[in-house]
Amino acid sequence: MAEDPGLIPGIYNYCDRWCERCAFTDKCLNYKMEQESRREAETRRIENEGKSPSEMWQDLKSTLDETIELLKEIMRERGLDPEKMEPDEDYMISEKEIKEETKVHPLTRMSLSYITMTEEWFNSHARMLEEQGMFDEKPPEEDVERTLQLRDAGEVIRWYLYQINVKIQRALRGKKMNETYPEEALPDDADGSAKVALIGMDRSLTAWRRLMELFPSEETPIADIMILLGTLRKKTEKEFPEARTFRRPGFDDPRYSDQLKKNS
Ligand code: SF4
Repeated sequence: MAEDPGLIPGIYNYCDRWCERCAFTDKCLNYKMEQESRREAETRRIENEGKSPSEMWQDLKSTLDETIELLKEIMRERGLDPEKMEPDEDYMISEKEIKEETKVHPLTRMSLSYITMTEEWFNSHARMLEEQGMFDEKPPEEDVERTLQLRDAGEVIRWYLYQINVKIQRALRGKKMNETYPEEALPDDADGSAKVALIGMDRSLTAWRRLMELFPSEETPIADIMILLGTLRKKTEKEFPEARTFRRPGFDDPRYSDQLKKNS
């Protein structure tokens, strides 16, 4: 599958994982593999019907054995000896320290505050949002345009809510790892992750603005959330000045701009 020339290598590394809304499902190895695993899981489910638990555990063990063999093969291809590999303790300690530092970084804290404020707003308005159709899956019967806008804003905010924090932490960790281990540095990865976080913030801000228009009486609390998110956005741009110009495979490649426009 990975050798398919129609795929865009690494496109899934800097996307937002919202495959339902993605213009590149036909060019993404991750998407194709997920579809394939679903099909395999369904086939397994049908095959497993009627099997005893011990037969099922045996099947799982042979899958794991195959996976370990595949992993060894990959390591050999990369010139690593799978039998001799031992964790480098210094590396492990530094990695742990970096993780701890990342957790208390101001950008991480701010993105967690954004989660808290958003959850509080959604929780305290749950009934109103539900009554107005934000969480309904069936097509709206009344005030269609307004309900669709409401649903879309809710979906966007909730989709990126945790992802912003995850991507910021990954970017911060990447940056620190690059500083600590310059000989193994992957400079682009931190910027790529920061860019995905920034895109999530851009879209979330737009969605909050839509909610503000739909609920004028909520202007003050929504403005507070937007100010926090806007500040986080500015600070992230400052911490990762190259992030906005990072070119994500596929999404920022002019060769695919038509496909992007057609499907967005
Ligand atoms: S690139 Fe698109 S299809 Fe692939 S994982 Fe990301 S969102 Fe999903």
